[in-house]
Amino acid sequence: MNAAAASLPVIIVGGGFSGAMLAARLAELGQATVLIERGEQVGLGVAYSTPLDDHRLNVRAERMSARPDRPADFTDWLALHAPAFADPNGFAPRRLYGLYVQARLAEAEAAPPGLIRRVKGEAVRIEGETVILADGARIPGRAVALATGNPPPRPAVAGDGPRRIADPWRPDALAAIAPDDDVLILGSGLTMVDVVLALQAQGWRG
Ligand SMILES: Cc1cc2nc3c(=O)[nH]c(=O)nc-3n(C[C@H](O)[C@H](O)[C@H](O)COP(=O)(O)OP(=O)(O)OC[C@H]3O[C@@H](n4cnc5c(N)ncnc54)[C@H](O)[C@@H]3O)c2cc1C
Repeated sequence: MNAAAASLPVIIVGGGFSGAMLAARLAELGQATVLIERGEQVGLGVAYSTPLDDHRLNVRAERMSARPDRPADFTDWLALHAPAFADPNGFAPRRLYGLYVQARLAEAEAAPPGLIRRVKGEAVRIEGETVILADGARIPGRAVALATGNPPPRPAVAGDGPRRIADPWRPDALAAIAPDDDVLILGSGLTMVDVVLALQAQGWRG
């Protein structure tokens, strides 16, 4: 790599947990980054965007530190900011984990300042080490890290209709479901559990 390229930032596409924490770790090493996120919020992604306290982490709090050098980092943060959930063996709301990730990113942005540049936009193409956004902006880097997470769910069953919800993670995806509506959920994993909890929280009695 020539000297000019080496002075460029690392471009990180995707500002969920992985992108935000990669930027934080690289800042600690003195490496500048550009963190590109298409959504309104950085550090949350699908998993930690939920506002519901019933949507819990599926890993005990004591194992959710985002800092390998500080294993108790998340439980210490909970003790300060949400003491009711500071039990190391407990399963804290995912919403709190999102706030924790955002706090750790903000900490990295402050010390030293100026190493992490946030860009709001959707990356649509990569040419060499240059990332091109949907609005045509070109962001050159020394390397590109893809931290784009999982794509939104695609319908696993053919067919369509106004009452079919293909992506239950979309904001307000369940809002049109009335308390006595019959709901058929296809799939029986963690997303199903979250959907049932979200429906109950909005007063659904089905
Ligand atoms: C419902 C649910 C619950 C979960 N619960 C847990 C848990 O309890 N514990 C646990 O450890 N893990 C959990 N996970 C897994 C969790 O998602 C991962 O641990 C982690 O959040 C993944 O981070 P990520 O940065 O790879 O992806 P994401 O957090 O999904 O972030 C990807 C980001 O990239 C952005 N992006 C995508 N494409 C582009 C583009 N072209 N341009 C710009 N931005 C883009 C997206 O907007 C998004 O913000 C859960 C996942 C889900 C879906």
